[in-house]
Amino acid sequence: MISIGLDIGSVAAKGVLLQEGQQHLMIIPTGWSPRQAGEQLIDSLLQRAGYPVKDVHNITVTGYGRVALNNGARTVTEIKCHARGVAALYPQVRTIIDIGGQDSKAIQIDSRGRVIDFVMNDKCAAGTGRFLQVTANALGLDVSELSDGEKPEQAVDINSMCTVFAESEIIGLLAQGVDKGGIIAGLHRSVARKVAAMVKRLGIVGEVAFTGGVAMNRGIKRALEQELGCTVIVPEMCQYTGALGAALIGSEG
Ligand code: ADP
Repeated sequence: MISIGLDIGSVAAKGVLLQEGQQHLMIIPTGWSPRQAGEQLIDSLLQRAGYPVKDVHNITVTGYGRVALNNGARTVTEIKCHARGVAALYPQVRTIIDIGGQDSKAIQIDSRGRVIDFVMNDKCAAGTGRFLQVTANALGLDVSELSDGEKPEQAVDINSMCTVFAESEIIGLLAQGVDKGGIIAGLHRSVARKVAAMVKRLGIVGEVAFTGGVAMNRGIKRALEQELGCTVIVPEMCQYTGALGAALIGSEG
């Protein structure tokens, strides 16, 4: 059986093709058209795996762009898909922290990956990947360079919660000659504090996993562990857990 799961996010569209224990992963920028990104992902995944579209049993779509893909595919919420994806990778995890491009969420799950409760921040860019993209830009860096550049022992306080004001604050700090590494560590702490406050509202149960594109930033993982006082597991395929969950939910009927 061939099952495709797509997670069409604000920044990146992720796809997972599952076929009898085999798994193909693909990521492309979402760009201006979530529909086009979804269609391109399906074509590219099938090409890579070497199957014609008629062999596909189900396509399940999640992420903010899921409504745009009007090809009859089943749609499922991101919360359910991340829960299912993480449960498949780490059955012992009961708390998931997901930080994507435009929102952050904390999800509590049971042993079968069913959602018990969740909290979400999708109102404010602080505490999301967007905040890190804008502030990295102000530092002349790419988001992928942040974790290597941080100096946690020199972390400076970033007082602005608003992304636009934080950008101005960074420009001011750089003008004063403050070290970039300290500013980056301050940014990581600021994101981690915002997200940790949200996670604590939900309550930490069992082991904790961290997913979404921002989980690739080891500095955020470090700062989250510090704020939460516990170990945080980052799956190797942290950006794909929503797409994996979608593919699994689709394959389960
Ligand atoms: P969405 O589902 O909204 O598209 P993702 O979960 O794909 O979001 O995460 C996108 C975010 O991941 C970006 O905003 C960026 O902050 C972060 N990110 C992307 N690539 C990297 C990387 N190589 N290292 C660190 N952070 C990254």
